[in-house]
Amino acid sequence: MTLREIEEKYRITADYHTHSVYSRVGPYFHGKGSIMDNVRAAHEKGLKEVAITDHGPSDFYGLDLKLIPKMRAEIEEAMRAFPDVKVYLGVEADIVDSANALDVSTSESAEFDFVNAGYHYVPGSNMVKNFLAFQGRGSAATVEELRYDNTQRIIKALTSNNIKILTHPGDKAYIDEAAVAEACAETDTLVEINARHRHPNAEDLKIYAAHDVKFVISSDAHSPDKVGRYAKSLALAFAAGIDVSRIVNIEER
Ligand SMILES: [Zn+2]
Ligand SMILES: [Zn+2]
Repeated sequence: MTLREIEEKYRITADYHTHSVYSRVGPYFHGKGSIMDNVRAAHEKGLKEVAITDHGPSDFYGLDLKLIPKMRAEIEEAMRAFPDVKVYLGVEADIVDSANALDVSTSESAEFDFVNAGYHYVPGSNMVKNFLAFQGRGSAATVEELRYDNTQRIIKALTSNNIKILTHPGDKAYIDEAAVAEACAETDTLVEINARHRHPNAEDLKIYAAHDVKFVISSDAHSPDKVGRYAKSLALAFAAGIDVSRIVNIEER
């Protein structure tokens, strides 16, 4: 199917992974749109639900947890402006070496409607080693060591927290896809299909599909015009042979 045919036949109902201006460092905005901008975009695309999920606090441009009340107020305002869209406050936490393997503690997690989690280049995550290995500059032995360590940390994060979505698994960090898929199945964690990243690719997704997991498609939008985009990710799912009934936020038009 071409991307056009995909868009004519299927639509996305919810986007649980978008970034806003709360992903920022000083004057640099990593996410370009306000919360209102993302919600307006969700409304225009006909989404029933959208989540604001800025980066965890250990990211260079991670969100400031002290601003959660301000984000909540803006979400309330956006839901009054666009009552057809249900808006959630989530976070894209970083998987790091901590008590619960995330850069938001258990009590901080409770301030969000839900927590997504993924690997990024942040302190406490084999940052430099993962970065070099992922650029193809690690020895085979280093890659295998990282694959083991990264996988163990993901499993710890999945079993120590209630994570809704494992974001772009296998991107920025080598992992054992089969072991991660098994942990997602056991913890009811959605596996994200996210065409914005190199992984998961179709080969990776075939491994996940062999396990009892559900999938979710996210835009991972960093600007409002990208909120709700799904066609490339759905094409990737089809390339991996994933049945659309296993994707929680896609329906036929
Ligand atoms: Zn991410
Ligand atoms: Zn993201």
